[in-house]
Order: sequence, then structure tokens, then C-alpha cells
Amino acid sequence: MKCKNCQNDTMRTIYGRCDECNFITQPEKFPEAYRCTLCNKAEVGRYMNDGPMREAQYCWSCWYWTNFKVEENTLISDAYEVYTVNRYVENPRNKSWLGYGGREFMILWNDSRRLPQRCNDLWNRGDVPLRFRHKFPPNGTLKHRGEEWTTPEMTI
Ligand SMILES: [Zn+2]
Ligand SMILES: [Zn+2]
Repeated sequence: MKCKNCQNDTMRTIYGRCDECNFITQPEKFPEAYRCTLCNKAEVGRYMNDGPMREAQYCWSCWYWTNFKVEENTLISDAYEVYTVNRYVENPRNKSWLGYGGREFMILWNDSRRLPQRCNDLWNRGDVPLRFRHKFPPNGTLKHRGEEWTTPEMTI
């Protein structure tokens, strides 16, 4: 969505404005606002369980990526889009419970020991901001079903 004051894209708005604009133009309404100690972005909190984030004086994005755990089934694309790749669900009873409504993808892991993985329960976890990318090395590629895909092993 867009902030009605600065027109920038923002994850959420309060009074139609981004956190930065609320903080600058209506400080009296946001006495709890602070600047992130990592990236200097304005943060007014008001998230569920935002106590630890507020204590650390991080913005939501820095807090999220600082605490993000890369697991065995975490895919990080070359564009630094992050996904959780859940196990393939055979004959799902209700596709709307699955990530992307049960759409099928193929995951090609950079690690050649891992076979291409079919997935119909993929969850987007967001794009890694520039300042965190060094902590999230890309580890694979996401292909849509039907899209051409080959790996060195498969073409032999
Ligand atoms: Zn704004
Ligand atoms: Zn920050």
C-alpha cells in the first residue's frame, strides 16, 4: 500500500500514513515512536508481541530479519526472495490451506546433492533487505510448473 503523505510503498499505514510520516508530522499521536538503531527507520511499533523489538529499538523489518532462522527447507533465490518449502501434499483436501493456493513449483537447490523438489505448499517469507543480504546467501531457484528446467545431472 501507499502512504498518502509521501506516496512511498509501505507495509502498513496508520491514519493512511507510513510510520516515518506519522512520526514526523504527528509526533503527539506517537509518543512511543523511536528510530531503529540498525537502519534509522522510524518505528511506532503497535505490532503483536512487539516488546522485545521495542526493547532492542529495532524496526519491524530489522527485527524480523535479525531473528529469521534459515532452515533445511528455506529457499533463498538469487533475487533474495525467501520461501519456506514444505513437503509435497498428495491429494490435498483443501488447496486453499496450502501456500499459493496449492500452486505447484519446482525447487532447484544449488547444492547438487539435493534433488529437484516438487512443492505445492510454498510460503513467501519476504524479500531480504539490502543490509541483511550478506547473511542470506542464495541457495536455489524457483521454477513454476511447466517452466523449462534442467540441471546438469538431469541432462546426462
Ligand atoms: Zn510516508
Ligand atoms: Zn531497522
